Amino acid sequence: MGIIMEGKTVSSALKEKVKKEVEEIKIKYGKTPKLTVILCGDDPASIIYVKNKEKACAALKIDSEVIRFDSNASEEEIKKTINVLAKDEKVNGILVQLPLPKGINERNIIELIPLEKDVDGLTSLNVSKLVRGEEGIVPCTPLGIIDMLDYYAIPLEGKRVSVVGRSMLVGKPLFNLLTNRNATVTLCHSKTKDLKEETRLSDIVIMAIGKPLFLKEDMIKDGAIVIDVGINRIDGQIYGDADFENLKNKASYITPVPGGCGLMTVAELLNNTIKCFYLQNRK
Ligand code: NDP
Repeated sequence: MGIIMEGKTVSSALKEKVKKEVEEIKIKYGKTPKLTVILCGDDPASIIYVKNKEKACAALKIDSEVIRFDSNASEEEIKKTINVLAKDEKVNGILVQLPLPKGINERNIIELIPLEKDVDGLTSLNVSKLVRGEEGIVPCTPLGIIDMLDYYAIPLEGKRVSVVGRSMLVGKPLFNLLTNRNATVTLCHSKTKDLKEETRLSDIVIMAIGKPLFLKEDMIKDGAIVIDVGINRIDGQIYGDADFENLKNKASYITPVPGGCGLMTVAELLNNTIKCFYLQNRK
């Protein structure tokens, strides 16, 4: 059986590092880092994600605040709030919980977040830095995957990687992060002609499509590494995009769902909040 990559172990190590940094910041700057989350509407998954983020901040003594709008809030109202937060010196990170309700243009909102408060790394400026391979704030889920691979000392240089799913939140930033680490990356999506042909050639297969138990053992080569980003809720149960039970004996390393990438995402958000604090406070 392959090695199970434990999100709990890796995320705990990262949280421990963040906790120490929060303590150092308090001593050195007399300040507490703060994350502000904008939550619009009543999407149940978004409400759960935001609660988890608040809890994680509290555990590490990072200040957090959730500003709620109902689902018929106007784009102008949200923009106004972002502009106030952008100038508020106490706020170090601004996160807009996606998706926003229909009728609100996500890009118009996101682009108002200043580069150094963009904890989700979604503004054009941070995306451009990532593409260029420059230091910036990187989206939390892809960053968590790279940290997970590094924790298990999995080399990336020269490796063939299939990233399945091309969203701005996961697939595209991962493509860039892996390319910047000298992997040879194929970005697959719903129009990919023969997905199995791509994934079977890959040393590492990363699934982020939102289709439960999609990846099966006939789609990977012996000893491949499988990273599963998918979170699919069916009848109160959570399933990944990879069929863990079917794959676990063929893969050399595999992430479980739950207990894998999801835990890393939250830890990276806390880490990004600290990075943002330093961007605003280090002279
Ligand atoms: P999106 O819905 O934004 O994108 C899905 C991507 O998958 C698209 O690029 C789509 O292709 C592709 N796709 C869909 N069906 C297939 C298929 N049959 N074969 C190949 N490609 C396909 O999803 P997200 O990136 O936001 O999320 C993906 C999954 O990851 C979801 O389950 C989500 O819940 C989970 N997630 C987990 C996180 C975590 O912390 N663990 C964080 C973020 C997301 P096309 O572009 O052609 O439409």
